[in-house]
Formats: sequence, structure tokens, C-alpha cells
Amino acid sequence: MRKSTNKPALIPKMYCNLFGHDYQVTKKVTYHVKEYTCCHCKKQLTTNSNGHLIELTPKFKEINAILERIYASRTERTKRKIMSSPAY
Ligand SMILES: [Zn+2]
Repeated sequence: MRKSTNKPALIPKMYCNLFGHDYQVTKKVTYHVKEYTCCHCKKQLTTNSNGHLIELTPKFKEINAILERIYASRTERTKRKIMSSPAY
């Protein structure tokens, strides 16, 4: 008897077409901008400057990397400011 290799009936992309993408936050770039990945088809999205979700293209990955660096240095400065200011 031969074992038949049954492939799953639903390929991830089809699953997403039927049930919608299941996005999970994979990266927090700034307070407003996040990167999302669909756990089924691995499609990636990001938030653009208007707050809309758009496809995460290499160009946007680059922008996000820059944003992240700016954001990190800014929050670092804010943290120091809070620590040096008198308590409420
Ligand atoms: Zn998907």
C-alpha cells in the first residue's frame, strides 16, 4: 500500500482570501508606526504617515529603520529629561 501525501486543502493565501489576514505586530517602529505580519501568508504591512495600513515594501522598511532610529534617540532624551526634572 502506498502512502499518499495529502497536502493541506487550504494554502495560506487562500485561507487569507476566505477569512482575511491575521496580522500580528512584529515591530514597534514609533508610537504610531508599527509593522505587521500575517501569520498565515507572511504578508507584511506598515502604518504610513497618514495612519493608514499599507504594504511593507523595501522602501518603507528603509523609512521605518530611519524613523526607529530617530524615535529611539528622542525617547532616550525624553527619559533623561524626566529623570532630571523634579518629581510632581
Ligand atoms: Zn495573510
